[in-house]
Amino acid sequence: MVTRRDFTTGLAAGAAATALPLSSQAAPYRGPNVVLIRFGGGVRRYETIDEDGTYAPYTRKVLAKRGVLIPNMRIDKLEGGNTSHAEGTLNLLTGRYNAYRDAGSKFLQDRLEPTEPTLFEYLRHAYNIPSHEALLINGEDRPQEEFFTYGIHGHYGIDFRSEMLSLHRFKLYKFARILEDGGLAEEEWLAAEQQLSELLAKDAREIAPEQSAPIQRFWAKWREHYGDDGFRNPRGDRLLTELALWAIRDLKPRLMMVNYQDPDYVHWGNASHYTRAIAIIDDGIRQITEALDRDEHYRNNTVIVITPDCGRDANPLMSVPFQHHFNSGESRAVWALVLGRGVRQDRVFDREVDQTAIAATLAEVMGLRAERSEGDVLSGVFS
Ligand SMILES: [Zn+2]
Repeated sequence: MVTRRDFTTGLAAGAAATALPLSSQAAPYRGPNVVLIRFGGGVRRYETIDEDGTYAPYTRKVLAKRGVLIPNMRIDKLEGGNTSHAEGTLNLLTGRYNAYRDAGSKFLQDRLEPTEPTLFEYLRHAYNIPSHEALLINGEDRPQEEFFTYGIHGHYGIDFRSEMLSLHRFKLYKFARILEDGGLAEEEWLAAEQQLSELLAKDAREIAPEQSAPIQRFWAKWREHYGDDGFRNPRGDRLLTELALWAIRDLKPRLMMVNYQDPDYVHWGNASHYTRAIAIIDDGIRQITEALDRDEHYRNNTVIVITPDCGRDANPLMSVPFQHHFNSGESRAVWALVLGRGVRQDRVFDREVDQTAIAATLAEVMGLRAERSEGDVLSGVFS
């Protein structure tokens, strides 16, 4: 005889099974950790993964032996598509093209917000993961990238956002504390208030319910170590490495994206800024990888993907070389290196691969159903 209790239990179990993993919001996450490193600011294959041309010897000659190098990854040539930093980053995070819109800021251009769910949202929608374990690490002068923590897709959004570590977020924390602590002369108080409101105005969207308690504790420790003046902490992409190392030690993110950016300074300067920035990222990748290898939480249980946001032109006849905004073949030529748990070693993937495959493949690695992603899963990189 089937009792009512048996019946309802069976029904619930059946419903849960068919709707997994999206309905199981309380499910603990048991998959590998994922670290996605944007070799960003737009880089060409020649100065990064070409064995002769590389300024990233650790990535190309040491780390590539531990994984699968995909030298021929492409950004699709799309009507209306732009090959740039925010765009490429959102391609990586959503597994789609053109999945963004202008976030409508008066203060800076190039502020895109995702219109499709990001990997962070898929992850936190499917599993019980606190926001500080889904972490974006961003450069200090790119508040336009503050928008990547969540999209506006109806089923996902702010409830499933990531947290972000950036100097922008630190200053938000710092000025709020300075005002809270009080004890300032009126002039100082007004200056701090002014600073805080300027910072808040850079991101018209809600961070609400503001930075989580673990992130605030992280900033308290950072502030204690580096002080308030901003002169003691590392700058540029070295700052991102430092934030990533602190995050690995103190926050233990399950999914972390590090958005390196400094090769982009070539827009304003000469080629040596570009190649030096590549070498600094390469050293950051070494430090991050070594920290992951040392840490029990990450060792043998992490998948690392290193990939650029976009490429750069190689035409030496252009008056300003090294650009990337024109949808040229070179600006759409990227690559990826995948390594870690379950990934083959010392292989080169010889087929052409699309940039949208990164999100689809990482979703597969993490056991997520990235239902809006259009990319292919690169099952060939796994053993
Ligand atoms: Zn640029």
